[in-house]
Amino acid sequence: MIADSSRSTASSDKSVSNTTEKSAPSISPENRSRSSSEHVFFVDRNAPKNDSVDLARIETAVRSLLEAVGEDPDRDGLLETPARVARMYAEMFAGLKSDPGRHLAKVFDEDYDEIVLVSDISFCSMCEHHLLPFTGKAHIAYLPSGKVVGLSKLARVVEEVARRPQVQERLTQTVADLIEDRLSARGVAVVVESTHSCMTMRGVRKPGSMCLTSAMRGIFRDDPKSRSEVLGLINRVS
Ligand SMILES: [Zn+2]
Repeated sequence: MIADSSRSTASSDKSVSNTTEKSAPSISPENRSRSSSEHVFFVDRNAPKNDSVDLARIETAVRSLLEAVGEDPDRDGLLETPARVARMYAEMFAGLKSDPGRHLAKVFDEDYDEIVLVSDISFCSMCEHHLLPFTGKAHIAYLPSGKVVGLSKLARVVEEVARRPQVQERLTQTVADLIEDRLSARGVAVVVESTHSCMTMRGVRKPGSMCLTSAMRGIFRDDPKSRSEVLGLINRVS
C-alpha cells in the first residue's frame, strides 16, 4: 500500500514542492543569525519566533470572526482570545519564512553506504484548507553518498516544514526534496502518517482515520527492490 502511494506522488508533485521552496522569501542575514542562536540555546524548540507575523492584524481578524459567528468578543471569557490566537498563529506558522534546509547545512563525511532511518518523528501542522491541525509521525530514511547529517537535524526539518499552512502531501515531498538536495543522498524515503482534525471533528467525522503519504527519491523511487527494502524497515520500526 505504501509503495503504491509513493509511486503516485513521487513524480507528479515534485514540482509542487520545488515551487514552494523557490517561492519562499529569502532569509535576511539577521534572521539567520537569530535562528541559529535560538537553535543553540534551545529556547524555542517548539515555538520558533516569527517576527514577520502581524499580530495586531490577526487580533482584529479574530475579533471580527467572533462577531461573525454571533459571539460577543467583549465578554470576559473572550477578551484575551484574539491576542492569544495571534500568538498561537505566530508559533504555528513560524516556519513560513525560514529555510528548513539550513538544518542540513552541517554534514559529516562518513564512509557509510547503508540505509539511515529515523522513525516516529512526531509533528503538528496546520491544514491549509481548514486551518485545523493535523498531527502524526514522519519516518525518514536515506541512503548517503559519503555525507551524513546529525539525526536530530532530520527531526528539525520536519518540525519546521510542518509550521506552515500545509497539506500532508506537500510536507512529505518538501522533506524528501530537501534531504535529497542538501545531502546529495542516493536515495530518500519519507513516509508520513497523520490524523486530520478536519476529517475527525467536522465534515465526514471519521475519528481514527489515518492519512498516509510517502515520497521516494533516487534509488528508492527507481529500484523496486531498494524501495521494498526501505519500506520493510520503516514498517518494522514504526
Ligand atoms: Zn483540512
